Amino acid sequence: MKLECRQCGSCCRDPLIELTDNDLHRLVKHTGIMADKLVILYSNTELISDEEHDWVKLSYGKRLIGLSKKRNGDCMFLTSENTCTAYEARPMSCRLFPINVAFSDDNKLTDLELSDVIRDKFINCKRKYGKGRSFNTFVSTASKAQKEYEDYCNKIEKWNESGKNGNKKAYLKFLGFKTSKK
Ligand code: SF4
Ligand code: SF4
Repeated sequence: MKLECRQCGSCCRDPLIELTDNDLHRLVKHTGIMADKLVILYSNTELISDEEHDWVKLSYGKRLIGLSKKRNGDCMFLTSENTCTAYEARPMSCRLFPINVAFSDDNKLTDLELSDVIRDKFINCKRKYGKGRSFNTFVSTASKAQKEYEDYCNKIEKWNESGKNGNKKAYLKFLGFKTSKK
């Protein structure tokens, strides 16, 4: 793995960052911010996901949970120096970027490819080829991310099948989060 990030910040500005409940638990613990203040619920007109499992049925339609942004579209944790104030607790998708990873049903890595947001020129990633990172460490992170994603999809399925159809706070409570009063 010889891709080296130049910290241009592009991947923390334009893309929408999907979250699992484990991503959110780590962010809440690290930042002390309530879960409902950390997430945005995206509708299918704002975010395209081929994965049917990602969508949560709420009283106002299907939504997908993502990391909150500032008004200018930057991730809420991006600083003006292009650093991340939640780096130690950043979501799994941030840890794996700019590589998309595919797994078989028995959790074996089957494919690695450059992220589609780069291939489709949605963002201009200024990565370079540099010092190698451990491939085994990357695969272990990717494997953990895949497991957490599958666990989260099971929770979404349970919620959707329960017919609860509540709002954002009700869904976050279902996932085990405390939410703010307002
Ligand atoms: S959490 Fe950090 S690494 Fe991820 S998009 Fe936000 S600023 Fe970037
Ligand atoms: S877009 Fe590429 S170079 Fe820029 S911060 Fe993200 S990974 Fe690094």
